[in-house]
Amino acid sequence: MREGRQVRPTRCYFRFLCFVLGFWFLVFLQYVIVDEWYPHTGTDNHRHFRGAVTMNPHGLPSDRHARLKHGRDNHRLHWNNVHVGHVPKGGNSDSDHLFKRFGREGFRNDHLPKVNKSDNGRYIDKFVGEGLPKANREVKVLEKDRKSDAVRNIVEYIQKEMAAPDSPDGVSNKTLELVREDVKDKSRTLRSHTDYNAREEADVRRILDKMAPRAHMKAPGEFGKAVQVDMASLSKEEKFKMELGFNRTGFNLYVSDLISLRRRVPDMRSAGCRGMVYPDDLPATSIIICFHNEAWSTLIRTVFSVLDNTPQHLLHEVILVDDASDEPSLGTSLEEYLRPLPKVKLVRASSRVGLIGARLLGVATATADVLTFLDSHVECMKGWLQPMLHRITEEEFTVTYPVINGIDSKDFNIYQVEVYYHGLFNWVDLTYFPSQLTLSMMRKRKSITEPIMSPTMPGGIFTISRRYFDLLGGYDPGLKVWGGENMELSFKTWMCNGTVELLPCSHIAHVFRTTNPNLGKDAYKTILNNAMRVAFVWMDEYKYLFFNNIVKNHITPEFGDVSGRVALRKRLQCKSFHWYMKEVATDLYAPVSAVAISKIVNVKFSDYCLAHSIYYPKVWCGPCDKYIQQQIVWYLENGQLLAGVLWREKPWMCLAVNSSQLVMSERCDAIKPRGQWTYTHENTLMNTLHKKCIELIPGQALVLSQCTGVPTQKWQIQQPSYNLTPHPKAP
Ligand code: UDP
Ligand code: MN
Repeated sequence: MREGRQVRPTRCYFRFLCFVLGFWFLVFLQYVIVDEWYPHTGTDNHRHFRGAVTMNPHGLPSDRHARLKHGRDNHRLHWNNVHVGHVPKGGNSDSDHLFKRFGREGFRNDHLPKVNKSDNGRYIDKFVGEGLPKANREVKVLEKDRKSDAVRNIVEYIQKEMAAPDSPDGVSNKTLELVREDVKDKSRTLRSHTDYNAREEADVRRILDKMAPRAHMKAPGEFGKAVQVDMASLSKEEKFKMELGFNRTGFNLYVSDLISLRRRVPDMRSAGCRGMVYPDDLPATSIIICFHNEAWSTLIRTVFSVLDNTPQHLLHEVILVDDASDEPSLGTSLEEYLRPLPKVKLVRASSRVGLIGARLLGVATATADVLTFLDSHVECMKGWLQPMLHRITEEEFTVTYPVINGIDSKDFNIYQVEVYYHGLFNWVDLTYFPSQLTLSMMRKRKSITEPIMSPTMPGGIFTISRRYFDLLGGYDPGLKVWGGENMELSFKTWMCNGTVELLPCSHIAHVFRTTNPNLGKDAYKTILNNAMRVAFVWMDEYKYLFFNNIVKNHITPEFGDVSGRVALRKRLQCKSFHWYMKEVATDLYAPVSAVAISKIVNVKFSDYCLAHSIYYPKVWCGPCDKYIQQQIVWYLENGQLLAGVLWREKPWMCLAVNSSQLVMSERCDAIKPRGQWTYTHENTLMNTLHKKCIELIPGQALVLSQCTGVPTQKWQIQQPSYNLTPHPKAP
């Protein structure tokens, strides 16, 4: 370089500094523009989105199934379905009688344990019914002899105390509208809770600091950071321990145990949410946390994170419901450990009652006017509760749920998920899945903080008014172990004058796992059984879109007695499922007028059926008793043959002609005339465009040939046939 042009080092530094400052200024500008000018785009969250691009933004694991081990098949999009399960003993009968009681007597609490309010609900004088723990002493920790006959399980309690009588005087003739008027008056009491109490706040902090002092800022996992374990440095025993933990819990227990029980978590709210101010007089809530064999560290971290992130005046109590865990660490040592915490109560089910039964047990014990449900492996984030409570004071008939960020099951990294989704459901098993808001929904949004109306919710974490929960008949106690209850509550909330809302300003983190140790080998059966109950009661003519996917021909599905739930719906005078589909789940594909076909059998080779891949462009003819799922077809109004079960959202595959020769399976939306079929009077399947018919020639792939009406071109169409009368006894 020549002398004269040499750049002085100070100028060089100056330029570098300008460049760096300029860069950060641009970053800042982008932040402001995106966040404040285009709030509806939701791009604010892309910046933080570190998690795997999962189909599962705010939901519990993808469709609450994702974590189950045995996929139904190995297809690309089927990786996350299911299913295995332990079905606990327990009644299966139906009940909903709260509405009746409410209607007759006007108070929601009369079926509940009598609580001595003078001590702020800390003493439970007496429990009515056999199904609840006995405790005539202070209930800091509710203790119960697990072997006691007196305490059988909540399902029995519900059956006995809450069974819907058929007698005419037991039936309330109040409609939901009328009751709603009652509720309006009484909803004022929602606001009547204790004032903010700084001393109480300090007391809790002191107790927590004593039990589990905050870790160093750089301790493992602080601020939601991933914990990287150097596997090479682990001894053989430690590696074994890690594997054991994984198998037991479905997540990296070894890592969880390394993390502080009170780790600091990041604030993942958008700037708009951070500035929100909520009234001081929000109602206090009972927080219900059910668990079955939860790991110690995740369970205690859940409890501590509730206590650390919830203003004390909003926290009425934390009710831990032990669903008959047999882990030694969750026995009396848990009671001892929790004893110093004034608002934490422990209730135990004597035998496994499943998630739904355990929640109902929690509800029966809870004494606040607002109920909040949490999983037992979550971490609450700053300001998580206020938006949910606030929304309920604005409109009591609202079920609110937070943005559920992920805690990685391997390294416990807390990652942010997309916010601008809402919940839909799979037709195939009524499991939840999140779906991006459509452009028009986004355009209607006035701010990033506005609630997102959600047709369904993941169901693990939500807040609801006690009165509304009771009014809606709680959960169907015939739902076993896990699943279906989120759809039941979502459907009936919408159909019975309420709304289900995702609140973008409320954030929580939840451990998503790929296998769920709580669910044994019959889980899929149980989940389907639950789904059938919900579908039968709530889904009107749309239920066939679900049932036709799952029932085997000529086999009457059995899902127990649902007459009580049917009566409940009638009493509530809720809207139709058609209304729900047209007004609420508007972006869920529902070909309700489609003809379900369970088999397309070749006339010449009558053991052979048309089969297709749901994901690949492949159609073939195979033995009818094999590939049963791949033989299901829906004949749509537009002449398309939609291949397979109605799983998730689009694109589905339809039978189509690739060239004039081959019969392929392609995306339904890309194949218009090539995918239209006529089932002729000669029983041939004729392509409308090419006027050619599908023919089965032995030893060859399926072909399209000139329609001659030979038996190899003829196909017999079989529709699913089954009787949908609910079975009176438990399956
Ligand atoms: N759970 C329970 N009993 C059961 C199954 C689950 O108490 O039979 C609890 C479980 O410990 C957890 C909550 O219910 O706190 C939700 O279950 P899980 O986390 O397995 O469901 P997911 O988050 O996968 O939907
Ligand atoms: Mn969970």
